[in-house]
This record gives sequence, C-alpha cells and structure tokens, in this order.
Amino acid sequence: MEEINVKGLVLKASDLGENDKILTIMTEDKGKISASVKGGKSLKSKFMSVSEPFTYASFGLRRSTKYFYLFDSELIDDFYPIREDLIKVSLASYICDIANELSLEGVEDNALLKLTLNALYALAYKDHEPEKVKAAYEFKSAVVSGYMPEISFCSVCHREPEDDSFIDAASGTLICSDCMTLPSEKTGITSSSVILPLSKATLSALRFLEEAPIQRFLSFTLKDDMKLLSNFCEKYLSCHLEKDFYTLGFYKSLFN
Ligand SMILES: [Zn+2]
Repeated sequence: MEEINVKGLVLKASDLGENDKILTIMTEDKGKISASVKGGKSLKSKFMSVSEPFTYASFGLRRSTKYFYLFDSELIDDFYPIREDLIKVSLASYICDIANELSLEGVEDNALLKLTLNALYALAYKDHEPEKVKAAYEFKSAVVSGYMPEISFCSVCHREPEDDSFIDAASGTLICSDCMTLPSEKTGITSSSVILPLSKATLSALRFLEEAPIQRFLSFTLKDDMKLLSNFCEKYLSCHLEKDFYTLGFYKSLFN
C-alpha cells in the first residue's frame, strides 16, 4: 500500500458518514489531496488537532482505492491567535476557500501554498490590518495563478496615467482619466466591463503586489485608499473565478 509523508495546510474539513472526517489538504509538492480521518469526528480522536481548517502539519498518508487515509501527523502551526478573533477566523476561512478554488487536485502549486501560509502567518502573528491582508491575498493569489492584469500603462493611449485612473476588473486593463472621456468604441469598455476608480497610490500598491516576492507581499503601505484597493482586488478575483464565496459575505457582514 502506497504511503506518503507530506507537509500541508488543511483548507477544509468536512464530515464523512457518522464518525469520519475528510480533509482537503494543500500539500507541498503533491498538490491538493483529500484525506479521510477515521473516527475524526470524535473528540477523542488523536488527529483532532490537525483536523481543522488553517492547520499546517506534517501528514502520514496511506492510499486506499478511494482516498488517502491519515495514519500519522505532527502539528507544525495552528495559527492559534487567528482562532481567538472572529474577524480573523472569517478572513482565514475566506482565504482557504480561495486557495481551494484556485488549486487543483494532485497538481503541485507550491507558490500558492507559500502565499497562503504567509497570509495566515501575518494574520496570526503580525500587526497588519485584516483588510490589507484580504486585498493583498486576493490580488497576489490571482497573479500567482496566472491571472496577470496589464497595469504598466493606459490601455488606450499607452501612457503612464498622470493622476487618478480607472481599471476594468473584468479585463485587468488600466484607463487614464483623459481616455475615460472618450467614446466606448475607443476605450473598449463594454457591458461586461467592471470599471473601478484607482488612485495613484492604489496603482503603486498593485504594481508592488504584482512584482513582489511572495514572502514580502505585505511590505507596502497605503494610507487612505485601502478601501479602493480592497474593492478592486475582490472584484478582480471574483471576475476570474466567477464565484461568490459564502465566507466573504460572512466576513463583510461583520463590518455592517
Ligand atoms: Zn489614456
């Protein structure tokens, strides 16, 4: 029987039958894996500490016909401070939903894993505001998954915008404020475009995020325009994934 030992992050834990759990684990080198935990619903399960979402651990897995089975585990980090804060828990759940949506079963995606671990680490142990982690993760996860916007110049006049500009979240193209006054046959704006305003500072933050190494993806400051950034990053990702996340709705409801 095939046995593997992998480090991985639990993205989702669901009930399986009366007693068992099934974990969706984003692993190093082996991509996303589903693993069942025999007796995982029991409070006495020895795997309880690694059978929760956003837990990073080392997993010993045996393959049977249908699933991998968990037979051994060692906790690496459960990002405990996240679990003590409702806003952080709901944001971490949304982040894991995004990672689950962007990753494919059995396809290695170590960049996305590294980004997700960095985001959870920042939420748990660093002093970043949740809205910044949310926006930066939404945008950077899209970028590492191959959804690259074209934000180096205005898509119409091909010049650097001199002041505030606009961005189409559906196509990821930039339009300067002068070109926005042109008719739609010139700008290429259609009924499926999602045009959002962008300040100079927000554009700089997006350019930083596009280029920054994963371990430094939160090393930017944005004083007043976090809402603009967050709004764009959320729309940009949802335009590409074509999906509404329940966990995003819940996170946002905490601020109303
Ligand atoms: Zn222009």
